Amino acid sequence: MTLIDGKYVSAKVKEELKEKMIHLTRKPSLAVIRVGDDAASKIYVNLKAKMCEELGINFTEYHLDANIQQEDLMGLIHRLNADEDTTAILLQSPIPYHLNILEAFKAIDPEKDVDGFNPINVGKLALGQAVFAPCTPVGVMTLLKEYNIDIEGKHCVVIGRSNIVGRPMAQLLINSNATVTVCHSKTKNLAEITKTADVVVVAIGKPHYITADMIKEGAVVIDVGINRLPDSKKIVGDVDFENVKDKCSFITPVPGGVGPMTIITLMGNVIKTAE
Ligand code: NAP
Repeated sequence: MTLIDGKYVSAKVKEELKEKMIHLTRKPSLAVIRVGDDAASKIYVNLKAKMCEELGINFTEYHLDANIQQEDLMGLIHRLNADEDTTAILLQSPIPYHLNILEAFKAIDPEKDVDGFNPINVGKLALGQAVFAPCTPVGVMTLLKEYNIDIEGKHCVVIGRSNIVGRPMAQLLINSNATVTVCHSKTKNLAEITKTADVVVVAIGKPHYITADMIKEGAVVIDVGINRLPDSKKIVGDVDFENVKDKCSFITPVPGGVGPMTIITLMGNVIKTAE
């Protein structure tokens, strides 16, 4: 079994991005919009700010009050779209329930949409033409490539169909010539399907849900899940890592697997907006 080391790969990508930055004639500038006071969002935005600083990317946070109206949010997005100094825009989710996040994503200029959530970019991904695709699944593809895991013609089972992980993950795998099955909470006989998989990508948010009996000998297992155990506060994935690992050819740990890839992929997208 080979452990897929996301920390190592993200550090390597970071060095490549630093090199790219040297040759840019225009400085990339990321605008992050955060609405309300979600504690986790604040941490994520701070991490993005820190990474931008390390890479020499301009970073501006627009922190809006939780009570703002949709038109205020749309107004800011339109202003940032028109601002030539802002090359990249990201709306940090979640946003308060009274706001329509899909309308907001739709308003972000597709060429500045570094999260790949604008329906135009979602459609382009479905057509195999994406410039910006969601960062976590793109990060998974980078890991597969880095470890020379050939997925062409392989049966890849994606568990989860969210807009940010499962669906774009399935599209990226299809675009790389894998044979893809997507499973979700209504899927019957999940284990029968996963047992036929050469590659399993799981993103469901359920600690240790994928057990050894669900995995074929020699399969590649990619665990996107990030779950905090209520008792120990330990962070674990969706895969029962200790029992699954010896059956796999490759597996990602949690933490230290897919997690570090998301932010570095985002940085790569931000740099693309200035290229
Ligand atoms: P989400 O929006 O809650 O979607 C979860 C998906 O899992 C849904 O499609 C759901 O099916 C499916 N599901 C739930 N229970 C299932 C079950 N028992 N069997 C099969 N499918 C099931 O979650 P998400 O945003 O995609 O995130 C998933 C996990 O990845 C979370 O732990 C999250 O923290 C983590 N994550 C990690 C990163 C990273 O950087 N590593 C980034 C994003 C998310 P239905 O559609 O039928 O409801």
